[in-house]
Amino acid sequence: MIPFLDLKKINAQYQQQLKDACSRVIDSGWYIMGKELENFEVEFANYCGTKYAIGVANGLDALTLTLRAWKELGKLKEGDEVIVPANTYIASILAITENNLTPVLVEPDENTYNLCPVKTRAAITSKTKAILPVHLYGLISPMPELMAIADEYKLLVLEDCAQSHGAKIGDKKCGSWGHAAGFSFYPGKNLGALGDAGAITTSDDELASTLRALRNYGSHEKYKNKYQGVNSRLDEIQAAMLRVKLSHLDVQIVARDVVARKYMTQINNALITLPTINDFKAHVWHLFVIRVENRKEFVDYLTANGIQTLVHYPIPPHKQSAYSEWQNISLPLSEKIHTEVVSLPISGVQTQEDTIKIIKVINSFKAS
Ligand SMILES: *Cc1c(COP(=O)(O)O)cnc(C)c1O
Repeated sequence: MIPFLDLKKINAQYQQQLKDACSRVIDSGWYIMGKELENFEVEFANYCGTKYAIGVANGLDALTLTLRAWKELGKLKEGDEVIVPANTYIASILAITENNLTPVLVEPDENTYNLCPVKTRAAITSKTKAILPVHLYGLISPMPELMAIADEYKLLVLEDCAQSHGAKIGDKKCGSWGHAAGFSFYPGKNLGALGDAGAITTSDDELASTLRALRNYGSHEKYKNKYQGVNSRLDEIQAAMLRVKLSHLDVQIVARDVVARKYMTQINNALITLPTINDFKAHVWHLFVIRVENRKEFVDYLTANGIQTLVHYPIPPHKQSAYSEWQNISLPLSEKIHTEVVSLPISGVQTQEDTIKIIKVINSFKAS
């Protein structure tokens, strides 16, 4: 079976470095909020092109705590509307509702699966205070246009970069466009820890300082609590793992790009819709998502031919039981996307033979 993603093989590439980093932490006797985190935060901020990176426990917390910080700073208040793509992973929306803010679900662009300027502008009301663009599947959203809209209406912009580490427009990377950005280092993400981890990037001094307190019980100074904070720290072992993985991220992005270019140029089955891409630098291919109308038949056919696929995502957030109040909202484009998308295997360790086999099998697919 060609696996969808082989995490063991990915991390085996750096086995010795990871083990050395782990030993370094064990031997240091310091396991929370130490040198590894401090160094990772500097290295990741440099990578993204921001003044700060603040490590937290996971990607959901990165988004939730940023919105919370803006509330603490008086920039958002309960009931404010936040524009978010309707087809995102549910975490982007959970971060909004957890803060008692109101998500405004906007249909994505049909070709890029991301927010588009026209539909975003049309969704703005007098209550809109923020936009949460999600760089879905690894493709950066149209940030120059979205930032221009945000400037015009004085909106905050929080990028969800959980799937897009390193994606850029020109030389400006995701995470440095908005006023802040949330990253996930869940093991399967392009920059993955060996457990849970996340970070916020920003160049705003006040926001960075508030986030540093919120992630650590609301405390800037030991035993003095300014906010009713949470415990959402990125521990030293994971920070050390991430420093190793960050040093190899660009090589991994190039290796994914090699697979994606083969798929883009060699898959030529009329039943398959390939991703739309104008600039390869804009996409880091966290997921290679195609569309096919007879999805079940296609997936069964690939499985029978020894190829594992996944669906990102089978049920849109507004159809989840968690948001039963939205059952009657109609978002036809998002609903259609959710019935047609399939994610093909892709990673920096996928062999050329496997890629060739996947292409050949897909090109032989016929609808019954
Ligand atoms: C993975 C993901 C998250 C959440 O990250 P965790 O680290 O799992 O909490 C948020 N948004 C998107 C788009 C994601 O893919």
